[in-house]
Amino acid sequence: MQNPYGQEQSRKAHLPHLQKRIYPGMVDQSFDSVQASSADKYYVQDGQRQQQQPHGYNNMYPDTSQTQSQQSIDQRANIGGAAVGQQQNQANQKIQGEQMPRPIKLLNAFNYRSGVADRFPTKSNNTPPSAGIPFLQIDEGQVGPKFMRATAVNTPQEADFSKQSSIPLGFIVQPLAETTSVEYANQVPELPLIDYGEEGPFRCYRCKAYVNPNMTFLDGGNKASCNLCQYINEVPVNYQSQLNEFGQRRDKLQRPELQYGAYEFKAPNSYINNPISNPVYVFVIDVSQFSQPIGFFHQIVQSIKMTLDYIQNAENAKICFITYDINIHFYNLPQDPNGEPNILWVGDIVDPFIPFPKEKLMLRVVEDRVKIDIFLDKLINMHNLESKKYQSPFLCTGAAISAAKQLIQMEGKFFSIHRLLGGRILVFASNICTTGFGSVNARDDPKAYNTDKEKTLLSPANDTYIKLSQECVNSRICVDLIYALKANTPIDITTVAPIATFTGGDLLYYNNFDINKHGEKLHYDIFRILTRTQGTEVAIKARVSTGLTVTEYFGGFGVKDQADFELSAIDSDKSIGFLIRSDDKLNEDAIAHVQFAIMYSTQFSERRIRVFNYCLPVAKSLNAYYKAADCETLSEFMVKKEIARAMSKGAKVTRENIINNLVNLLYVYRQKCAAQTSPSQLVLPDNLKLLPLYTLSALKSPVISTFINFSQALRMLPGCKIDEKIVSIYRLLKMPPSQMPYFFYPRVYKITDLGQPVRIFILMTIQDSTLGQYAEGQEVMQKPLLCIASMEKLGTQDAYLIDNSEYIYLYIGNNVDDNFIYNVIQSFLILNYQAFGYSNFSDLKFNGVTTFVPYEGSDASTTLWNFIEQIRYEKIGVAYAPLRLIYGGDTTNEKEFVETCLVEDSMDINKEFPYTDFLCMLHKLIRNKTQS
Ligand SMILES: [Zn+2]
Repeated sequence: MQNPYGQEQSRKAHLPHLQKRIYPGMVDQSFDSVQASSADKYYVQDGQRQQQQPHGYNNMYPDTSQTQSQQSIDQRANIGGAAVGQQQNQANQKIQGEQMPRPIKLLNAFNYRSGVADRFPTKSNNTPPSAGIPFLQIDEGQVGPKFMRATAVNTPQEADFSKQSSIPLGFIVQPLAETTSVEYANQVPELPLIDYGEEGPFRCYRCKAYVNPNMTFLDGGNKASCNLCQYINEVPVNYQSQLNEFGQRRDKLQRPELQYGAYEFKAPNSYINNPISNPVYVFVIDVSQFSQPIGFFHQIVQSIKMTLDYIQNAENAKICFITYDINIHFYNLPQDPNGEPNILWVGDIVDPFIPFPKEKLMLRVVEDRVKIDIFLDKLINMHNLESKKYQSPFLCTGAAISAAKQLIQMEGKFFSIHRLLGGRILVFASNICTTGFGSVNARDDPKAYNTDKEKTLLSPANDTYIKLSQECVNSRICVDLIYALKANTPIDITTVAPIATFTGGDLLYYNNFDINKHGEKLHYDIFRILTRTQGTEVAIKARVSTGLTVTEYFGGFGVKDQADFELSAIDSDKSIGFLIRSDDKLNEDAIAHVQFAIMYSTQFSERRIRVFNYCLPVAKSLNAYYKAADCETLSEFMVKKEIARAMSKGAKVTRENIINNLVNLLYVYRQKCAAQTSPSQLVLPDNLKLLPLYTLSALKSPVISTFINFSQALRMLPGCKIDEKIVSIYRLLKMPPSQMPYFFYPRVYKITDLGQPVRIFILMTIQDSTLGQYAEGQEVMQKPLLCIASMEKLGTQDAYLIDNSEYIYLYIGNNVDDNFIYNVIQSFLILNYQAFGYSNFSDLKFNGVTTFVPYEGSDASTTLWNFIEQIRYEKIGVAYAPLRLIYGGDTTNEKEFVETCLVEDSMDINKEFPYTDFLCMLHKLIRNKTQS
């Protein structure tokens, strides 16, 4: 076994998702000191962050909003388009790349302040800060953007503004998003929790909205007018309060639900249908001849073993291990931890059963810990390939999932014959399921790509796993599928995926699995699944003002066009979109209200209702509606909404819809909102000038990119590609909003300059010492200016760090200066080669030179490491990003890198689309529309 990321081998902290690092001068708040309390588990509490200046928000969009009042939108609109128009007129003249809209300027403005988080007062009615930079949401009675973001901060007054402009009115919600402690008055990173006992919270009798800061209390406090449906409610006697001279309830400051936009209620018993489960995890692990040689099996066992210390509510959590190849194996552990486990092979894989009473299979994480550790060590030996007499090439993954489901259902029946308790099943597989229940056949047809026939490939071959997923949802069971495969092994993931996606689980897929390259990522992915905040038995409903209607929800589960829906589970990484239709014309001074409510059970067996409130003033004109749009959220919404339908509509239609929406949005703006436009100019609304770039990034996602036509597919794709398409659909759908900005435009830092004396400044002189993730006086690196994400712009004499949030790439140009290599890169690599997935330093080759002079490590290489750690630390709520090493001349590595990172470049196959060409294509399509 080579280089597993176990306890001994890993050079990093055990809690990478915290991305917690103690910088020189920082107050040491080690994780151990805070982990005892569940509330603190994911966060670092900081006593120094108590000062709050709710109105100290610095607008970080100087080039947008500051000019808005002074300059007409038409004048500004043309700024972004001038370059493209020029190119149309002068065909030989290249577009000046620097003039095209990019998010770099805003990010540099933020980076310049090195980690000083802005404050966003939620009632400001400004477009919120990007989800990709640290900021503090100050809840002023409206939910903050870390939980809920609108495509536009105003609602259209005319019902058809939304349709006309192609700007859908909708929200992206991340209900269990992680936040920092300073965002709440009570200084803990949890929402205020309110308990009204058996009576439950006060709700509108007509629309069932929960009491919130926007309800108006009347008649001396005896009555309340609902802000959503206007119904005048009688206030229950024990919830009444006198009103002050401003008509406000006198107890307002004592009641979080009358003050804040986001809060939680304890659910009364009458809301609880089923007994609430303690956490149950069943690990279903592939021990076949495929799984072992690639190091997958060994890594899984190691990672589970070291993660068990960190799972939430471990005292009450139960786990069970099932392994499988052509049979399913169950383990009954003896009382004596050192005794031999009793293994039962179940050969009936068509209709599998549980061979032991369930209480013999389930283990208590804390109480049985010694037993578990000894067993896991033995498990590796038990399934040692060399000791196995017979190796079957078949794998019964479906049957193993079905058995795990039965086991959890039995666990529920222990309490009551009719009641179900739920749990989470983590399924690890290294090949296609070829035998027994749920077996599938590899299918792919490159000829169908980008045609109407493709949707057949994107639809499941049969409904076995859809039915199984429904049974799981009914039993509150959530399933994660984790695949590690040899290069392009077809597994018909289209058919199998619903068991994970429909139940609220994760679908993880490592193609061409290499333990050195992917072991670290696999480890942290398992860690994240087992340690993040989760909710089970989830019910979701969004309520909106009269005149508006919620028409659909979309997310990792696909599309749901109903008023409310249920999921087995939700976690802090998952987001949900919902679309609102405007039915009537609204009054000029009206305010549209939206209330999102999610009922769920915590891992500590409490049933809760989380409530988010959002107000949207009315946009009185189409132009005002355009101005109210939030580019980042709108891009995310438009892409995810279409992608969620890709399975039923096919990639071609999805792609066309995305482009048509964008063209129509820009066309109508040009026709109705912009003045004096020359046909030679591409007109982009100033606040939406990044929309084409973000759309382009999405179009390069494997699922909808057109570059895969048949002949290209044959050249570049020796194996199955449809699996990757499906994986990319779900990857995008489940991507948390905080990761989207990196997907839209990765951050490229030139690090050649970092070799100079460390540029650190101490933030002690800043008056407002509440700095978000950083404490006063803490040293932080000043980041170098961001570069354009294009290979053309990367100098061969420089080195770069490229962060797309999934990975951080260290890119070293061909002709980097020798001194830099000696002083920085070489010592950095010597110290950190394991972080790049190399088990031996001698494996690391540098531009043909394999011999390094051993070097103890320079200040400059320490600086580089600190910088990487700082980038990781600043991202809250994003999974740990491992490092990758890329050399300038290395074509194989570079290909993957170009495709995933440098979003301004063309794909390397047929040169479609560099950013410049894409803008020209949009311009042409808009002109065609104008002329037709
Ligand atoms: Zn109501």
